[in-house]
Amino acid sequence: MSFIVAIDGPAGSGKGTVTELVCKKLNLINISTGAAYRSVALATLQNNISSDDTNKIIELLDKIDIEFRKENDKDLVYLNGEEVTKRIRQKDVTSIVSKVSSIKEVRLKLNKIFKKIAENKNVIMEGRDIGTCVFPKADVKIYLDASIEERAKRRVKQNEELGINIPYEEIKKDIQKRDEADKNKKIGALKKADDAIYIDSSNMTIEEVTDKIVEIIKNKMT
Ligand code: C5P
Repeated sequence: MSFIVAIDGPAGSGKGTVTELVCKKLNLINISTGAAYRSVALATLQNNISSDDTNKIIELLDKIDIEFRKENDKDLVYLNGEEVTKRIRQKDVTSIVSKVSSIKEVRLKLNKIFKKIAENKNVIMEGRDIGTCVFPKADVKIYLDASIEERAKRRVKQNEELGINIPYEEIKKDIQKRDEADKNKKIGALKKADDAIYIDSSNMTIEEVTDKIVEIIKNKMT
């Protein structure tokens, strides 16, 4: 048996941070699907493949191994044995990830991986299409949102903590561009599932959002 919590929402909505905290409180496994898409984008760059070259990216999929590992209480991402948790947050990866993740074969391959990881486990999976496509029957579905200004502010802070310095205006533009691309994908588009609980976190602290989601999950688990 597995218990699945799907958290979807746009870039900077707080999904990553909140998911990490909820996982700790409820002892659930944390799976960031965005990190997997970012890893495919990084592999594309590492192999000098253009993000427009769909065929080459599809060929590359067979040579990609993505792993989520927990080490010293930290969630780490490995691409072909190399730890890439921070690397995949860099600008060059972010700028091509929407394009790479709009390729149908990329989504099919990653969705298979996500389903396998979740087998017989209690997980929170966060992304864009978890409640709509990957786990349409998830036990709990949350759609986490926030204003564009708040999301850009949060992403600047988050990047700074990772040692990445990108100015606010640039981040805001990037998020707007990514929102557009993610909402208009032919498959796996960013969309609230009809039965997802909508949370606008613009005026909430991380703790408030975390507590609210913990309560929703606890109510469903009992
Ligand atoms: O969540 P994060 O910002 O790391 O996601 C990076 C990108 O990966 C998104 O902008 C989106 O293009 C893609 N993605 C996706 N489907 C998901 C999760 C992420 O297409 N379930």
